[in-house]
Amino acid sequence: MRETAWDLSASVRTGKRSAVDVVREALDRLSGRDPRLKAFISSLPETAMQAASRIDSARQRGERLGPLAGVPVAVKDNLCAAKGITTCGSRILENYRAPYQAHVVDRLEAAGAILIGKTNLDEFAMGSSTENSAFFTTRNPWDTRSVAGGSSGGSAAAVAAGMVSGALGSDTGGSVRLPASFCGVVGLKPTYGRVSRFGLVAFGSSLDQIGILATDARDAALLLSVIAGHDARDSTSVCEPVPDYVTSLDRPLKGLRIGISEEYFGEGLAEDVRRTTEAAIKELEKQGAVTVSIHLPHMKYGVACYYIVSSAEASSNLARYDGVHFGHRAAKPKDAMDVYCSSRGEGFGAEVKRRIMLGTYALSSGYYDAYYLKALQVRRLIKRDFDRAFETVDVIASPVSPTTAFAIGEKAGDPLAMYLGDLYTLSANLAGLCAISVPCGFDRAGLPIGLQLLGPPFAEETLLSTAHQYQQFTDFHLQEPPLVAA
Ligand code: GLN
Repeated sequence: MRETAWDLSASVRTGKRSAVDVVREALDRLSGRDPRLKAFISSLPETAMQAASRIDSARQRGERLGPLAGVPVAVKDNLCAAKGITTCGSRILENYRAPYQAHVVDRLEAAGAILIGKTNLDEFAMGSSTENSAFFTTRNPWDTRSVAGGSSGGSAAAVAAGMVSGALGSDTGGSVRLPASFCGVVGLKPTYGRVSRFGLVAFGSSLDQIGILATDARDAALLLSVIAGHDARDSTSVCEPVPDYVTSLDRPLKGLRIGISEEYFGEGLAEDVRRTTEAAIKELEKQGAVTVSIHLPHMKYGVACYYIVSSAEASSNLARYDGVHFGHRAAKPKDAMDVYCSSRGEGFGAEVKRRIMLGTYALSSGYYDAYYLKALQVRRLIKRDFDRAFETVDVIASPVSPTTAFAIGEKAGDPLAMYLGDLYTLSANLAGLCAISVPCGFDRAGLPIGLQLLGPPFAEETLLSTAHQYQQFTDFHLQEPPLVAA
């Protein structure tokens, strides 16, 4: 049985269980299950056990414990941690030890959570399947022949398989929601600015946001309450007060206006996904929500727009890996230029090189206006469509992905097919919205399907309470992959 962070922390706080026992069990599950799944790039057994015994001693001294006391968690390996290495799934950072720790890791630790490992990802978070990791591909706990989704596939698989009760990922164009939907867990991408990105290795800085993978909406609310809020070290993190996401879970669904846009239900959507998503929307209506038809005319340009903007930003962010400042340096370079070229040539994988070339091209003089500037204009139009829609609706409901988890290798040689799978998720990043993926059923093969709910900026409370209410009437989030039950 998977245990929620909510229940685990309560039993540690009340002394029913010791943090040391909880963490030891999590580490045992990790060593028992991860060889089949490959969700983790590294584990931190010693520091995790030390942190657990510090929690137990604090309790014995009568100190007040944090809201995540003793809860085993994992973070995607593009979040810097003071202990261990931070690889970003790349050869170029294979042995990189970060000199500082991400704000969100500080927050988790301050709340009593215990970091037991760093999870696998597509190299620098570029991909939708973790097949672009320089090290290995994470497998889907529901069917190990299928991908776990990406790029936060390791974090999603780790939660789905019950190795941790919660995990963090990053979402630049869907990388939290997509693996959440493929693995049957909740995935929340907060609004841009809601969570500090300090210590998150940058991919597309105007799109990146740290997100949460959890077994249910209540755990996602609990984790968001811990990591959200302003941080002076990230000037894009906003000062908006952080609401108590857990208490607002009880908001009723009655009267909630759900926008439905045909743009999310068009060509290419698998029949099982369509049927299941529509059934989930019907369930919400049955509980008192009302649906409203909306139109998002520019959404169809989202994929093209996103891949220009994100690649342009990536090409500039990744310029820092030059063989001098960070990570891998080529052996015996001929001259300074060769240090740069060979270190980057050896250190980056094919997809990262493709994005750097695409981005550099879009930013180069003569093409800047035609591609980058045009993409920024389209981005504005996409945002305007959403602004208009949210004048009449509270949330928008859609599928997360056109398909369920695909077979490992099926799309690996076809980048365009992989990019098109992001169609439903990436506009949330382009428009700076918040969005969540909630388990809502299974396809014929027994693979999970996620319902996406999108909200206007800073409407996380509405998303979480809608998801929580939905979970009061359904049990998809309680289903566990065969590997957990075994
Ligand atoms: N799949 C998208 C990409 O490859 C999104 C990745 C992400 O959200 N990090 O860029």
